[in-house]
Amino acid sequence: MNLIQSHAQKRDGFVKEFALKLGVDVFTPISHTIFSPEEIIKKNGGKPPLTYQSFIKLIGLPPLPLGNGSPSIPPVGIDNSNDLPIPTLTDLGFGDVSQEECNPFIGGETEALKRMDASIQDQKWVAAFEKPKGDPTAFLKPATTVLSPYLKFGCLSSRLFYQRLQEVYRKVKKHTEPPVSLEGQLLWREFFYTVAYGTPKFDQMEGNPICKQIPWNDDDSLLSAWRDGQTGYPWIDAVMVQLRKWGWMHHLARHAVACFLTRGDLFVHWEKGRDVFDRLLIDSDWAINNSNWMWLSCSAFFSQYHRIYSPISFGKKYDPDGKYVRYFLPVLKDMPKEYIYEPWTAPIDVQRKAKCIIGKDYPEPLVSHLGASKNCKEKIAAAYALNKQIKGERNQVQLQGVKKNSSDSRNTDDVIKQPPKKLRQKKLTSY
Ligand SMILES: Cc1cc2nc3c(=O)[nH]c(=O)nc-3n(C[C@H](O)[C@H](O)[C@H](O)COP(=O)(O)OP(=O)(O)OC[C@H]3O[C@@H](n4cnc5c(N)ncnc54)[C@H](O)[C@@H]3O)c2cc1C
Repeated sequence: MNLIQSHAQKRDGFVKEFALKLGVDVFTPISHTIFSPEEIIKKNGGKPPLTYQSFIKLIGLPPLPLGNGSPSIPPVGIDNSNDLPIPTLTDLGFGDVSQEECNPFIGGETEALKRMDASIQDQKWVAAFEKPKGDPTAFLKPATTVLSPYLKFGCLSSRLFYQRLQEVYRKVKKHTEPPVSLEGQLLWREFFYTVAYGTPKFDQMEGNPICKQIPWNDDDSLLSAWRDGQTGYPWIDAVMVQLRKWGWMHHLARHAVACFLTRGDLFVHWEKGRDVFDRLLIDSDWAINNSNWMWLSCSAFFSQYHRIYSPISFGKKYDPDGKYVRYFLPVLKDMPKEYIYEPWTAPIDVQRKAKCIIGKDYPEPLVSHLGASKNCKEKIAAAYALNKQIKGERNQVQLQGVKKNSSDSRNTDDVIKQPPKKLRQKKLTSY
């Protein structure tokens, strides 16, 4: 088995080796995920399963949370005699981190358990949970659990959450199933961890074997307009402001802005959007963030690039009055609801009355959605065709290599790096 050494794996290996040299016993339980990614990859013949369904077939019964019948961690002697005060953020060199508005989520295990209990006690809600049906604009009472920051920081055990869900499922007559159920959400997390663990260069496009090679733009002005909530599309900008202020948005809101930045409108590289999320999300998680960015940009896992979210009608469908937009973009708070998702179409006297002149108080749309999305589809179609051709070429070379048992020194990677002349010409003209 050829498991890939990510930064975290290398770091852990180093710490383990260092501790062992000093005669310190090292015990490394799997606790951040329900299943062991390494075990699943082993069961799958050394390769990570690349679809959710094939992953589900492999997992078997989940281990119980510690202290619930499963073997416990050997006690570690903690010496508190030299207690030092907890350093402040300023001590750690972060300076002033005050925000315009504090995110509404309190940290810590006590809060995590309280939040989980609050979700679980509504058994009807848990039993009926269907992720794609949630309302991404429901911000005062979010449509999902908002447990992701707690899972990310280890304030909440994914195994405990999983077992508590099973208790509810046993009590109710009928409940939804993976992939859309709450259990299914936790399994998405497990699936993405497993793929991330076993895929080389998972956090980049180049050299990542599951990632489609797409000639994304490298346009920092488009990126900064998106990042700063200045695209001129209120639904997109409101989500980006929620990200900056709260560090958390509903999954479908993340879909909307990730699609818009990449394959939907701006054609900016998913790695750039990933970095912005990584910096601003309070639940930012290496495996989950990279996976979802590849998904949304149609670079891996999902390939229906012709299905593009509209930056106008997506938000409108859930919130026709625009309450979400008005909350996160107060500059538009007095815009009549007919124009709230397309304020540039409001007559000038309406804009004056709403004290919001488009182009002055709030930007004009950065791109025309219809034209931009058509362009994006064409570029992705060309990139997909090229990826397919190169893959075909590679298979052919491999086949010939086997047939001839050849001494040809050109390896398959060279084919990807240096496509034949015909393909290179196509690449230049089609992008
Ligand atoms: C572009 C993009 C980037 C994302 N980046 C992150 C990230 O950095 N960290 C992160 O935790 N989630 C990320 N997600 C996944 C998802 O949006 C969040 O996990 C979810 O919105 C968190 O809210 P919740 O806890 O209320 O979720 P719930 O719906 O209540 O789900 C419960 C738990 O299941 C897990 N989960 C739910 N959806 C997913 C998913 N699609 N993939 C993997 N695990 C999931 C999370 O741990 C979540 O807390 C991203 C999604 C997109 C589209």
